[in-house]
Amino acid sequence: MATLIDGKAISKLVREEVARGVEVFKVKYSRVPGLHVVLVGEDPASTVYVRNKEKAALEVGIAGQVHRLPASTTEEALLGLVKELNQSGEVDGILVQFPVPQGIRQQKVVEATAPSKDVDGLHPESIGALWAGIKGLVPCTPRGCMRLIAETGIKVDGAQAVVVGRSNLVGKPIAGLLLAANATVTLAHSKTRDLAAVCRGADILVAAVGRSKMIPGSWIKPGAVVIDVGMNRDEAGKLCGDVDFESASAVASAITPVPGGVGPMTIAMLLENTLLAANARISRASRTLVS
Ligand code: NDP
Repeated sequence: MATLIDGKAISKLVREEVARGVEVFKVKYSRVPGLHVVLVGEDPASTVYVRNKEKAALEVGIAGQVHRLPASTTEEALLGLVKELNQSGEVDGILVQFPVPQGIRQQKVVEATAPSKDVDGLHPESIGALWAGIKGLVPCTPRGCMRLIAETGIKVDGAQAVVVGRSNLVGKPIAGLLLAANATVTLAHSKTRDLAAVCRGADILVAAVGRSKMIPGSWIKPGAVVIDVGMNRDEAGKLCGDVDFESASAVASAITPVPGGVGPMTIAMLLENTLLAANARISRASRTLVS
């Protein structure tokens, strides 16, 4: 039977680490890192996500501020606010909650965000840095997956890793991070032939598709580490992942549950990214002063 990778417990550890980091930052620089979240409109799911982010930030001592804008906000006005936040010395991390209302181009917002404050890791510069092996801000869920993999103790270096799903937000950055950690990576998607055979080759299998229980235990190599990013509802309306947990946990060595696996890591990594961004901005500023 597989060991459960407890995302709730590991995310708590990360949040405690961030809280300690924030204390050190505060002593050194007489201020706390600032995370500014922008919510446009009143989408119910986004409203809950933003509230959770604000609460989590405050709990670790980060100054979390939410800018709530009406759904009628124009793209120009939103880009104006992002520009202001880019220039503010108090702001270390900027996150515009997606989706934004129709009429606002998401990519324009991403590109308007200063890469040094891009705590969502979505700016083309952040993506380029990830694939070039340059230090930068990495999307939160993929970072969370890497932390979960690390906690299992599996040697990523030289391992065969398969990522199913190639979205810019999840699949691709996870593949990039696994590659940077010296795994041999296969990035599978909807056009992949014989996905079952591809998955069976994985020492580390990451599922990021969005289809309830599509990966059965018979697709999993005995002893593999399985990270299930999927958040779906089954026929009974119950939350479930992309992996059939019951059959998979009989074969894998370690597996994330849904809920309680990858989900809790996302906000924890957002806090970690904010602290990283704050420290990086200060060291960049001091390098500029010296040179
Ligand atoms: P997208 O819909 O953007 O991407 C889904 C990917 O899955 C695509 O690359 C698609 O391939 C691939 N795919 C679809 N059907 C198949 C199939 N039959 N076989 C193989 N691959 C397939 O989703 P996201 O990446 O945004 O999200 C994936 C899942 O992760 C969702 O359930 C989402 O809710 C969850 N999620 C969870 C988070 C968390 O914090 N736990 C955070 C973010 C997402 P193609 O490119 O060929 O179309």
